[in-house]
Amino acid sequence: MSDPRHLISQTKQDAPVICSTGQEELLKRGLVRVSIAADGLSPLLDRRLKELRAALRSDAPDHLLEDLLPELERAVLAADTDRQDRLGQISQSLKTLARQLQIHDRSGKTAAALRQLIKQIDEPLQHTGALPALLDELTIIQGIALDGSGGASSRRGLLSRLFRTGGEERPATMEAPAPADTDETAAGALIDHLAAAQLSQESIRLSDNLTEAEPQYCNVAAHIETILLSLLGELQVLDEQQQRCDRVREQVQQGLNWYDLAAVLEELSGLVLSSQKSRQADFELYLQQLDDRLAQFQGNLEEAQDVYAGSAEKGRSLEGVIRSQVEALHVDVRESFDLTLLKANVEAKLDALLSNVDQARQAQDQREEAVSAHLRTMVERIQVMEVEAQTFRRHLDEQTKRAMLDNLTGLPNRAGLQKRMEEEFERWQRYGGQLLMAVLDVDHFKAINDNFGHLAGDKVLRLIAQQLSRRLRKMDFIGRFGGEEFVVLMPGTSMDQGAVVLEQLRQGIQESPFHFKSQRVAVTISLGYTEFQAGDSLDQVFDRADQAMYRAKDQGRNRLSRA
Ligand code: GH3
Ligand code: MG
Ligand code: MG
Repeated sequence: MSDPRHLISQTKQDAPVICSTGQEELLKRGLVRVSIAADGLSPLLDRRLKELRAALRSDAPDHLLEDLLPELERAVLAADTDRQDRLGQISQSLKTLARQLQIHDRSGKTAAALRQLIKQIDEPLQHTGALPALLDELTIIQGIALDGSGGASSRRGLLSRLFRTGGEERPATMEAPAPADTDETAAGALIDHLAAAQLSQESIRLSDNLTEAEPQYCNVAAHIETILLSLLGELQVLDEQQQRCDRVREQVQQGLNWYDLAAVLEELSGLVLSSQKSRQADFELYLQQLDDRLAQFQGNLEEAQDVYAGSAEKGRSLEGVIRSQVEALHVDVRESFDLTLLKANVEAKLDALLSNVDQARQAQDQREEAVSAHLRTMVERIQVMEVEAQTFRRHLDEQTKRAMLDNLTGLPNRAGLQKRMEEEFERWQRYGGQLLMAVLDVDHFKAINDNFGHLAGDKVLRLIAQQLSRRLRKMDFIGRFGGEEFVVLMPGTSMDQGAVVLEQLRQGIQESPFHFKSQRVAVTISLGYTEFQAGDSLDQVFDRADQAMYRAKDQGRNRLSRA
């Protein structure tokens, strides 16, 4: 420095400032501290401040400090512009959220507060310190607009309502979850709200649907679960996917809320697609193999044919050679006067003839060996194809059989039932006679599920199926129509005989000792039955039996009704 006692600092606009050495030191230290406080606003500014601190700490010459200042000034201006932009973006996001809440809250309870808030947001934000107050206000308004209540539940962020994690305990009802922790930190709430502010219009519309759909979903949940369970029952999956399928079934049986439903449907559709794909791939592979084998088979056949054709050709040429040799013999015999010479000639010609025949025989043997080798290969291949076709047919038969059976009860399912009803109907149309149909429905089964859970309900269904099939006669047929409904077909049975058998079924179920955790569970069934009458269609018979079953319900349940 030119003057050790004085620091002369001069910018373009400012007059020179003269300081004592003590003041100079103080100023330097102050500058270093202020520069540290300003760190983190922008990377460029950070870099300039670091250079300034290094210059101040190392007593850099004045001109170096002077060179630094314009750069620093530019970095400060840029950082300030950035800050303003960010504040503007946050205001904009807050305003978007407030507007969406305005649309959402049709009750208008929050209209005035939201208007006021939007006005506040419109006033330019000077610093981030104003944000928490605005966000707090928005949190309370959102609570009122979304939940119809402020307070603790309003502190639940929109995001956490939309995307609850699996670990979180699911409420038994289908309502939106209550906050697990009312001491939720302000930071968590802020993150939720900032993220919510960034959500697109579409996501917000989803949240509209959610809050409206939840109570409606509540009403149809049991029905949806039943449909899903029956779909899972019908679904034929490969062994390696069975676990996946069981997991979905368990999840459905434990009850789904609105949030679980989408995930379960997605998993289910994945299962359906993959089971279909693998079965198709199986079949395609089989067809491909069959195609390859048939091509080989045809190749062998063509080769065998060539050999055969060659052998016919060779046979014809041998015949020609023999014929000409025999003709030569004739000539020799006819024209010869010398017996000794004739004898020698004949012997020579006969030797040649025999040798020709031997050669021809050997060639024929070789050809025959080649043909029979081809034939052996063909036979082996056909055997392999037969085994494969049998395995495949067995596999298909098993699948078809499994597709006809209900997984839960082991009884024929709706498809199996339909097939058997059509067969019995056709037989009845062709040969006449008596045929009865009964529809059975478990009484108040929903209450069993509600009181003891779906798994207990499943167990009851399995036991009922066992009891019913045990009590039916050999010639009768029972299938699970769906849910807690069964259909019984009774060929060669009059209405009175049928009534006796069905009454035994009813009584048997009523008296069966169903227990849950050593508590007796009363289970009864209502039955409607009818006989096939001339001119009936299958559907008409079913409708009559079904209506009779509903009459039994109306008359107090646990009884038979005939139609
Ligand atoms: P009702 O006496 O009038 O027949 O009353 P209900 O409760 O038996 O009849 P509702 O049709 O109201 O309910 C039938 C219930 O059966 C609803 C459904 O959740 C349940 N359900 C259907 N299939 C299954 C199943 O496979 N397992 C279990 N656990 N429940 C099932
Ligand atoms: Mg029912
Ligand atoms: Mg029922």
